[in-house]
Amino acid sequence: MHTDSRVRLLGLLAGSLLSLPAAAQEINIYSARHYDSDEALYAAFTERTGIEINLLEGNSDQLIERIRREGEASPADVLVTVDAGRLWRAEDAGLFSPVDSEVLSSRIPAHLRHPDGLWFGFSMRRRAIFYNKERWSEGDITTYEELADPRFRGEICIRSSSNVYNQSLVASMIAAHGAEETLEWAEGLVANLARAPQGGDRDQIRGAAAGECSIAVANHYYYVRLLTSDDPADVEAANAVQIVFPNQDGRGTHANVGGAGVVEGAPNRENAVRFLEFLASDEAQALFASGNFEFPAVKGAELHPEIRKWRDVKIDDLNIAVLGHNNAEAVRIMDRAGWR
Ligand code: FE
Repeated sequence: MHTDSRVRLLGLLAGSLLSLPAAAQEINIYSARHYDSDEALYAAFTERTGIEINLLEGNSDQLIERIRREGEASPADVLVTVDAGRLWRAEDAGLFSPVDSEVLSSRIPAHLRHPDGLWFGFSMRRRAIFYNKERWSEGDITTYEELADPRFRGEICIRSSSNVYNQSLVASMIAAHGAEETLEWAEGLVANLARAPQGGDRDQIRGAAAGECSIAVANHYYYVRLLTSDDPADVEAANAVQIVFPNQDGRGTHANVGGAGVVEGAPNRENAVRFLEFLASDEAQALFASGNFEFPAVKGAELHPEIRKWRDVKIDDLNIAVLGHNNAEAVRIMDRAGWR
C-alpha cells in the first residue's frame, strides 16, 4: 500500500478521525478494499472536486463493528466493501442511509444496486468453475447444478462454508430453486468433495491443476491473478485448467459486487454522494474494476485487456440484494449439508 499526500491514510489503531484538523471539504471513507489502483482513484476524486479524502482501511467486519461502536459520533461517510453478503451485514446493522441519485440509478444496472439505494455495486466478479483439461473436456460441466452430479464423486475442490463467496453462491441457488432443492444440491456437492475444504479461491484452482481434484470453484479474478503471476508455478496451474462461466443456457453466471453506501448520519453526506457518483464515472469505473481484474458495473466502461474476451458472458440478473437476504438461510443449508 503506497501513501499519497492527498490521501491521509489512518491505521485502524491510529485514533479518532475527529482529532484531525478540519479541512474545508473532506470525506471520511472506511474501506475494506486494498488495491494499488485505489490510490489513483482517490487522487482523481480530490483533483476533480477539491474534496480531501481521509481513508480508514480494515477488514469488512472490523469496519462494520467500528461504525456500530462509534454510533452517532461516527465520522464515517462512506463504507466500501465487497460481496453482497457483507453489504447485507452492514445494511442489517442499520449502517446505511438511502441515496436517491439520478446519476447512480441511471448508470448502475438495477440488479447491481440495492432497490432502496442503501448501497451500490461498482464492480462485478463472477464465480466460475474450472476443470482440469487432461481430465475433462468442453461441455462436461456447464452448470452449478452439476457440481452435485454423482459423475463428479470425489472430484471437487471448493473452499469452506464460512467463505462469503460460497454463501452468496448458495444464496443464489436458493433464489433459483428454493431452499429444499438447494439443500439436496448442497448435500450432493459435499458428497463430491475431493478433500475437506481448505485454503482460498486460488488454492482450489491449484488443487484442480495438481490433480488433487479435477474441478474447482473460484472467482474469475483469482484465475487471472494466477495467469498473470510472476511465479511460473501459478501460470502453469492456470494453464492446466479451463475456466467455465456456468449456466449460459439458463439464468447466467452468478455475479457479485464490490460496492459502497453512504453511512447513516454521515457528517459529510453531500460529499459522500458526490464520491459515489464519481465512482460511477467512466474514469473511476475503469480504475475501480481493473485493480482486481473485475468487470465495471457501468456498461461501456473500459475493461481490463485480460478480461475483454469474457465481455459477452451471460450474467444472472437476480438483484444482488437478494443474496444478502438469503444469507442466513444459505449458511443454515450449508451447515445441514455438512459443508465445513
Ligand atoms: Fe476475493
